[in-house]
Amino acid sequence: MHLPDVDWEVTRPFWDGCRRRELRVPRCRCGTYVWYPQPRCPTCRGREISWVRVSGKATLFTWTKVYRAFLPGYRPPFVTALVELVEDPKLRLATYLRGVEDRKLSLGLPLEVDFEEAEAGIVLPVFRPAE
Ligand SMILES: [Zn+2]
Repeated sequence: MHLPDVDWEVTRPFWDGCRRRELRVPRCRCGTYVWYPQPRCPTCRGREISWVRVSGKATLFTWTKVYRAFLPGYRPPFVTALVELVEDPKLRLATYLRGVEDRKLSLGLPLEVDFEEAEAGIVLPVFRPAE
């Protein structure tokens, strides 16, 4: 399975949060969520950015059901998705959907984060239908 580099300093707080079952994203002092993580805020160009915990609630922006995996270690079928976090429509995470029947897949479907341990102790955020 193709796994992220959880030790890269730019994204390490994200993966450390996942290990604690917390979804964390960088936020500038001016209030802008800085996603994808970068050293300067795209709104005010400031550098006072800290990682904050977000709710883990999201809506479905788009998805693809994969029937044939091209890399070893993946077990199709599975659904990959872009989800929009409720804190800001510009906060879109590439992730996997779990526990959604095909007929229920629809734009704007309410979702919430869950965490799965992959190999090598790496914890990945995935999304399920909100209860
Ligand atoms: Zn800013």
